[in-house]
Amino acid sequence: MKISKYSFGMGDRFGHQGNAQLTALIKAKNAGVDVVPVWNKSHREHSIVGTSPENVRTEADDSVKALGWEGEYYVDADHINMSNVDGYIDHSDFFTLDVADYINEAADDQKLQAFVNDFKKYAGELQIPGISEAFTITESDLNTIAKKYLFATEKAAALYRHIADKKGADNLIPEVSMDEVEDPQTPVELFFILGMLAKENLPLQTIAPKFTGRFNKGVDYEGEVSQFEKEFEEDLLVIDFAIKEFGLPENVKLSVHSGSDKFSIYPIIGKLIKKYDKGIHVKTAGTTWLEEVIGLAAAGGTGLEIARKVYRKAFEKQEALCAPYATVIDIDPAGLPTPDEVDGWTAEKYANTLRHIPGHADYNSNFRQLIHVGYKVAADMGDDYKNALVENAEIIGGCVEENIFDRHLKRLFDL
Ligand SMILES: [Zn+2]
Repeated sequence: MKISKYSFGMGDRFGHQGNAQLTALIKAKNAGVDVVPVWNKSHREHSIVGTSPENVRTEADDSVKALGWEGEYYVDADHINMSNVDGYIDHSDFFTLDVADYINEAADDQKLQAFVNDFKKYAGELQIPGISEAFTITESDLNTIAKKYLFATEKAAALYRHIADKKGADNLIPEVSMDEVEDPQTPVELFFILGMLAKENLPLQTIAPKFTGRFNKGVDYEGEVSQFEKEFEEDLLVIDFAIKEFGLPENVKLSVHSGSDKFSIYPIIGKLIKKYDKGIHVKTAGTTWLEEVIGLAAAGGTGLEIARKVYRKAFEKQEALCAPYATVIDIDPAGLPTPDEVDGWTAEKYANTLRHIPGHADYNSNFRQLIHVGYKVAADMGDDYKNALVENAEIIGGCVEENIFDRHLKRLFDL
């Protein structure tokens, strides 16, 4: 299995929006860009919503069949590790091997030494084609990088072998992710991480580093856009060089775990991948769930009632809901309306407050982030929530499709 150049990861917490999501990619295709759909769901989402990996496979297969999609598509076991991978092996074909927790755990001394010996030919001035300034690397830098990442790459390889043994190496797309950490990986670190993975014979096809800046859930990028641009461009060139140096699969590409809606950097990503003729995988998750709430609110009546209830419960339980996402949200409590206030809002006011239109007078990123992490509230509503999704399927589907096509794909691929 070999993933094509452009792919887009979509999460669907409650499993009702597969058709709307795929419709957005069909629109992109009709506009001239082939983007491969990948349905992703993390173990954390499954356990909060109470779904299983098989549900995602069924949803993807059903949507592909219903809409007559003839291209490739994948189901991503997102952010899995050795403790939970087994339930995903039969149902997924894209595996995000998350080894962030093992960063900074030291590999054994012999292995560290072997790495330094193997890679010391890169010490001194490391000139990467396309990057104007050479990087200066000392043997002690190699040691530091090895101590930081070698053990994590061994863990990634062990997890890969575990899956490949059961599934067959040709039947999966391996991604390695290290994004859920505080410190970004530099382009130089990325180069050596790719070298380590190649030494471990892990034929990765996508890699998700932690980029500079904040990737808060459901809201725009926060950080120095120019710094991101420089780093992203260097990462592209580093990958190119690493493919040649280490014999990695030629289609290895960056995977951006966007946390959804990184509108200000999408055009930069789009411009740079075009400039170097590179592929990209962009992963989103909660943005579809937010469109469900927007659609319910916009529908008025009982839909609006449910949207109000979602906010009230999320407001009451904000501490517990925010805890698992502490490093990837940034909510100013003073910027949150009270539930009583929200109960007085019109359908339009609610939808406009939640919908991500930067610069819109009603848009409130605090409100949006709280709802983003508040999907457990809807899961707890059980059939009340799911029935509302069915009753308002048309208006919600329109929101989901418009969001992915107009706000995400158009910005990324300059459509
Ligand atoms: Zn991630």
